[in-house]
Amino acid sequence: MSNYVGRFAPSPTGPLHFGSLVSALASFLDARHQRGTWLLRIEDLDPPRESVDAPSIIVQQLLAHGLRWDGDILYQHTRLPDYAFCVNTLLKSQHAYPCDCTRKKIAAVYSGTCRDKPRDAITDPYAYRLRIDNEQVGIDDRCLGAVSWDGAADVGDFIIKRKDGLFAYQLAVVVDDHFQGVTDIVRGADLLDSTPRQICLAFKLGYPQPRYLHHPLVFGDDGDKLSKQTHAAPVDLLNPTLNLRRALTFLGQPPVPDSIADVQGLLAQAVQNWQVALIPKSRV
Ligand code: GLU
Repeated sequence: MSNYVGRFAPSPTGPLHFGSLVSALASFLDARHQRGTWLLRIEDLDPPRESVDAPSIIVQQLLAHGLRWDGDILYQHTRLPDYAFCVNTLLKSQHAYPCDCTRKKIAAVYSGTCRDKPRDAITDPYAYRLRIDNEQVGIDDRCLGAVSWDGAADVGDFIIKRKDGLFAYQLAVVVDDHFQGVTDIVRGADLLDSTPRQICLAFKLGYPQPRYLHHPLVFGDDGDKLSKQTHAAPVDLLNPTLNLRRALTFLGQPPVPDSIADVQGLLAQAVQNWQVALIPKSRV
């Protein structure tokens, strides 16, 4: 075992579609190729958007494709006290502040209206935002190379706890990646915009920065990215080897010989073959 820790962290808003299988497979192969640990975290933070059956369907889909994780599954709904503790830490260190602005008033990058409002001028309901100044944030993405952002222009103060009392994805993902000792984040390029937010948040919480690899997204015939919200077809359990072969092709990896017909044999070969340099580079 190396000290590499990777993870797959689906939100249970529906079953996995082909795009999510690609993500799961990429993070699995990268972890196993480096003899690392691969964790499964179910990001069940937002009950109104989730489907009750999704966690068990996702587990079934991963197992049918031979994607076995290490240790127990971490469910984010069990982690709320830690998120609350971190929000409090950020408030105490004045990295976060309450904000009662309505969505209508807010442009793509928040202008900071509530930053210096006196506490008693904030009315219910309010959210908490992280304060972002002129921070320059950069990564050396293992697929895309150097990517950088300007804190004030590209990021702005963002929500870490919502008005409805739910913790934001950005907060929970950072707190849990640190809690689980994740060293390597391998995920789709749709989350590239979230990366500078997560780096700023990790920095303010005193966490080390993980390595990143953002792979290209899968688009459907209609030209839209496959997504659970738009009800992309679930990955079927009947043809796992075919699904895996298609996902490997999408990731630019060498084909596994047809003579290997079982899931475990196919994955073993794919782990051996895995080459990040072959993944197509795309920021979408
Ligand atoms: N839960 C997020 C999603 O399903 C992914 C989190 C991540 O990989 O950082 O889109």
